[in-house]
Amino acid sequence: MDSSQFRQAAHSAIDEIAQYYDTIAERPVLPNVAPGYLRPLLPDGPPEEGEEWTEIQADIDRVIMPGITHWQSPKYMAFYPCNSSFPAMLGDMYSGAFNAAAFNWICSPAVTELETVVMDWIAKLVGLPDCYLSKGEGGGIIQGTASEVVVTAIVAARERIIRRRLADMPEGEEKLDRMAEMRGKLVALGSEHAHSATQKGAIIAGTRFRTVPAPEETGFRVTGAALRKTIEELRVKGLEPFYFTATLGSTAHCAVDDLEGIAEVAKENPDVWIHVDAAYAGSALVCPEYQHFCKPMEHYDSFNFNLHKWLLVNFDCSAFFIKRRRDLIDTYSIAPSFLRNEFTDKGLVTDYRDWQIPLGRRFRSLKVWFVLRSYGVNGLRAFIRNHVSLGEYFEGLIRSRPDLFTVVTKAAFALTTFHVNPRPGSPVSTSANAPNPAHEAYLNDFTNSAEAEYRASANEITKHVYETINAQREFFLTSAVTGGIYI
Ligand code: PLP
Repeated sequence: MDSSQFRQAAHSAIDEIAQYYDTIAERPVLPNVAPGYLRPLLPDGPPEEGEEWTEIQADIDRVIMPGITHWQSPKYMAFYPCNSSFPAMLGDMYSGAFNAAAFNWICSPAVTELETVVMDWIAKLVGLPDCYLSKGEGGGIIQGTASEVVVTAIVAARERIIRRRLADMPEGEEKLDRMAEMRGKLVALGSEHAHSATQKGAIIAGTRFRTVPAPEETGFRVTGAALRKTIEELRVKGLEPFYFTATLGSTAHCAVDDLEGIAEVAKENPDVWIHVDAAYAGSALVCPEYQHFCKPMEHYDSFNFNLHKWLLVNFDCSAFFIKRRRDLIDTYSIAPSFLRNEFTDKGLVTDYRDWQIPLGRRFRSLKVWFVLRSYGVNGLRAFIRNHVSLGEYFEGLIRSRPDLFTVVTKAAFALTTFHVNPRPGSPVSTSANAPNPAHEAYLNDFTNSAEAEYRASANEITKHVYETINAQREFFLTSAVTGGIYI
């Protein structure tokens, strides 16, 4: 494909994409295909000779579209959002065009420098404390996903505590033995409702993992007291807690851990790296009414949120902010001779390869820059506030039918969780007309058999309604089971 063929193909692809977005609301969200549907539609191997773009493009409709779940549809309500926008798509096009594995500043100075600037813009936009800005000891980097960020933080935390504890030991076999011994005792922590990324990160880092309780009484939040208690209990057992993921917007309930209380624990335990995972809800911090959550973060080590979830930047884009960039660089900077250059050696530039696990990196900041400029701060705030008010409206609809539904957690950011009430008159409902009396009381107390029966029945019908809606494919919802409640 030469540049004039590209121009023609790209125009036609963009026409098709625009048309897709114009008609997306009319499509069922879920595809109607069985596992393995795609292979029979394709030949056994790639073509011997190149094909025309028109033939390739036609297969979007024939092969791909039948198996697409329409995440951008207004009827998509599953998991969490994964917003896209046209400015972000344009950013990805340019990124593809400049295509580079820009791991060092010298590999493409604009890639590094734009990223540093937009990350500072975002830090200010969401109200992070100044310690996360690049003008001091901190800074931001764009990584692919929250899980990637969490593992990057856990491994850096592991190395930091080992460096600190063994700082006085000379290099050599004995130190290596001590390091191995220490690693076996390290424990990474996360709320019982933290995303599984923390557990996965601990597996990758080769450390232990423990959960910190976050029961319904605390609103599914980890309190400072619960974290302190878990740390103390582990230390009594001779273990070394070294890392904790605080969650701002948990996956199942959008709960926010007690960030103020946890900041006190952070002050008492400077060797425990505290990371805030705000994968979904972090985007709401663009609105000043949420920025009080950021204040305690001056006592934490790092923070991330996914612009690809809720801030109109196409997948993938997880913003990772660090208070002391040295904590990353001391772990990830390994400089064989071919990666060295005068700018790096003189300390004049940022080399983001030293802040991450992979070497190469894409030009992701372009799409962020395009989105920030196209929407402006006010446009982004209006976008988030609209979703939050839709969430509240939805909660109102659910509450307006207490005969049918029970709200389990009220609208938090844009997430409401609820269950369906057992049908009036069903043998297991507690009352014909008011099937959910004293809801708060029975949620966690299934010792009473009537309540246990009610719960079993509510879970059963909620699952049934959920499966029926998804089977119709028009809408797509997600269920979860927390504290024995099917929501
Ligand atoms: N953290 C939280 C709180 C999440 O809700 C999710 C996804 O649901 C993740 C992390 C994982 O995000 P990613 O797909 O970016 O790894």
